[in-house]
Amino acid sequence: MSSLRETLIDELRDVFDAEKQLLKALPKLAKAAENEDLKAAFEQHTEETEAQIEQLKEVFEFFGETPRGKKCKGMEGLIEEGSEMIEEEAGDAALICAAQKAEHYEIATYGSLSAWAKLLGEEQAVEVFERILEEEKATDQKLTDLAESVVNAEEGEEEESSAAKRGKTAKK
Ligand code: FE
Ligand code: FE
Repeated sequence: MSSLRETLIDELRDVFDAEKQLLKALPKLAKAAENEDLKAAFEQHTEETEAQIEQLKEVFEFFGETPRGKKCKGMEGLIEEGSEMIEEEAGDAALICAAQKAEHYEIATYGSLSAWAKLLGEEQAVEVFERILEEEKATDQKLTDLAESVVNAEEGEEEESSAAKRGKTAKK
């Protein structure tokens, strides 16, 4: 059986790779987003993700390990789904959903990493994991807000105009 330290390093390699994959995927989401606030949210999280990767490199150092990723199949699958949304021009609501799945996946990982680092008494690592965890949660919340406000507002406009059209047809 692996020690908790080994499990942590293994998961750290996984999330290091996951973040690198996201760093490439987020600009594509930003480009595909129609809503300006959503575009800005994706752009901001691209910058945060870049900084997160640098912070993870420091965590490898805390543990005396070389920063090296290990293919994260979970994130690969989530990004593949996101790419399909982009190709299909599924719209902002679908992009938000795809991005939130990735954020939730990260939140699960950083929550575990933080708990394990705490058990191992690696306070510096706990600080980094908690800091990143808060960024992922904030991003998730921002996406929830956008899903509820912006996207629905646009949907509402569409419905209003089609209702107006229906109204006109009814009058004819
Ligand atoms: Fe991240
Ligand atoms: Fe994230």
